Amino acid sequence: MKVITDERCTAYALPGHPERPARISKTVEKLRSQKELSVTWLEPVPVEDAAILRAHTPEHLAKLKAAAADFDGDTPAYKDIFGHARRSAGAAIHAMRLARKGELAFSLIRPPGHHATRDQAMGFCFLNSIAIAALEARASGASKVAVYDFDVHHGNGTEAILVTEAQTLFASIHQSPCYPGTGRRDVGENCFNFPVSPMTSRDEYRKVLTKAMERLAKEKPDVIGVSAGFDAYARDPLAQETLEAEDFHWIGEFLRKLGIPVFSILEGGYSDDLPDLILAYLKGLEGS
Ligand SMILES: [Zn+2]
Repeated sequence: MKVITDERCTAYALPGHPERPARISKTVEKLRSQKELSVTWLEPVPVEDAAILRAHTPEHLAKLKAAAADFDGDTPAYKDIFGHARRSAGAAIHAMRLARKGELAFSLIRPPGHHATRDQAMGFCFLNSIAIAALEARASGASKVAVYDFDVHHGNGTEAILVTEAQTLFASIHQSPCYPGTGRRDVGENCFNFPVSPMTSRDEYRKVLTKAMERLAKEKPDVIGVSAGFDAYARDPLAQETLEAEDFHWIGEFLRKLGIPVFSILEGGYSDDLPDLILAYLKGLEGS
């Protein structure tokens, strides 16, 4: 398993904010100390503005570079947030390139991205890394690209970006009602939403996860980018779902069995058990 990270991503924080440096540092520690999964560590690739501008407006880019004011109550103007967000996008692009060469890759970095729209940072997200990587895949020869988002929150930003992009597909499985309040029905021709009620049983949740993946797989994409959020976990503080570590292992397994190149990037997941959930998912992906 190739894991892409950059220790600079732990350099920004706001006291009490759930999207905190330990999410990454504790997971790195866990992956380095375990022996069940063989990990090769890699860094993000550099990202030019042109790659970002496929997904975002020039105004948004300028606003991030300036970081003059907080973007919303959850999404502060951290020092050099543009540099951090750009490295997250670079990690997603690196994972995508590895997947297209037949390798298994996971981007373990912050900030997350799936709530960032073309022109707005929100919900802990500044640049939409999965959309940037999906559009980079299209620009570099993939004829059809899908994004599968199992974060417990709707990937509203990814949807808003991809809904106007030809030969892209998006499916999101998320708790509803929950932040950000969108994703109750399909949008456009290519964005499929699978809302689930709070406290949905694990069995039922797995059925919905399967249905969403089947919707994407039947379109035969060349590559699937996964917005891997671990906040549908039973003990996550930001949502009210019921999944356990074995369920994330199961998601990894069924993605592997599709036989389509897959790359994954970390989105949410705020419980102290996040390192165990990520390890379970990666083991499922690798078939161990
Ligand atoms: Zn989330």
